[in-house]
Amino acid sequence: MYLTVRDATKTYGTFTALDRVSIEIEKGEFVCLLGPSGCGKTTLLRLIAGLTDLDGGEITLEGATLSDLPTRKRGFGIVFQSYSLFPNMTVAENIGYGLKIRGAPKDEVATRVKELLALVKLPQVADNLPGQLSGGQQQRIALARAIAVDPRVLLLDEPLSALDAKVRATLRDEIRQVQRSLGIPTLMVTHDQEEALALADKIICMNHGVVVQAGTPEDLYHRPATRFVAEFMGISNLLPASEIEQHFPDLLTTRPSSDEPYLACIRPEQIGVTPAKDGTATVRSISFLGNLRRLEVDSPAGPLLVETHGGNACRAGDRVNLSIEPQACTWVIDDAAQPETAPA
Ligand code: ADP
Ligand code: MG
Repeated sequence: MYLTVRDATKTYGTFTALDRVSIEIEKGEFVCLLGPSGCGKTTLLRLIAGLTDLDGGEITLEGATLSDLPTRKRGFGIVFQSYSLFPNMTVAENIGYGLKIRGAPKDEVATRVKELLALVKLPQVADNLPGQLSGGQQQRIALARAIAVDPRVLLLDEPLSALDAKVRATLRDEIRQVQRSLGIPTLMVTHDQEEALALADKIICMNHGVVVQAGTPEDLYHRPATRFVAEFMGISNLLPASEIEQHFPDLLTTRPSSDEPYLACIRPEQIGVTPAKDGTATVRSISFLGNLRRLEVDSPAGPLLVETHGGNACRAGDRVNLSIEPQACTWVIDDAAQPETAPA
């Protein structure tokens, strides 16, 4: 393992921001740290960068502890959410800054800056000041500055969140391309599950200062471990076992044998809809979403969301039958379930 965080704990007064968090990043891997605002993502990134001290646990790079290494000696490249370029330096000076303070010769810096500007597709802006660039361009320069020094790890804290949707999507793909071509192990913080799904080799999903699940995008989307992950990764139908037993008994075959409170998680695109005069469910509403249609259906098991790619010609008010393949159902632990209160 290249970078490891083991049992990292961070408290602010009586508040525990991170509770024994462990993560691993392999060489060349793109890892997304995903979770809602306030769950501890930035805190974890800052601990790895050495900008905040650990209260417990350990961080190692290639087997060596980073505990006593100050930020500038860790050799990491960092990009933050808001544009953190030096406003009074030109783009070229910003990108070359790290190399210059390391004592690299002038012409070497100039060559490298030119290379990096080409890499982030902004060859013309070397002499501009950051303020003369758009938000997306500034983040490209921030990325170029972070990779200028051949960082051992690239740390990105919501680098796209201040940009509008179109720029965000383009830059997202470019970050991935640059990361792939250079093979820099990268940890990117985001609260946007779509971004994480599109970018990551591995997603680490956090909530309330703990890691809830880590795995490939496919794992988290198709095999969420808990209700929180299922809901965070996108729209889900979550049904208690009692409803499944009554209305979709075929699905029970996949249910884990354990006493924990499980819910059946069924993705909207995995429910088949067939119009039928004597159908057991009713289409309540339909929204057209371009490449697909989302149906709200009143079923005997309760309201369900269904997504179809054209095909059937249902209308609101139609009776339909629903079908769900057993393998389309994932059982997740209901981590929002109230624990049973012990008698006093
Ligand atoms: P995220 O990046 O996931 O939105 P943060 O890591 O920034 O979350 O913050 C996690 C929690 O720790 C939040 O509740 C935040 O208020 C708290 N926190 C972060 N930094 C400090 C600090 N310096 N002092 C006190 N509380 C902090
Ligand atoms: Mg944050």
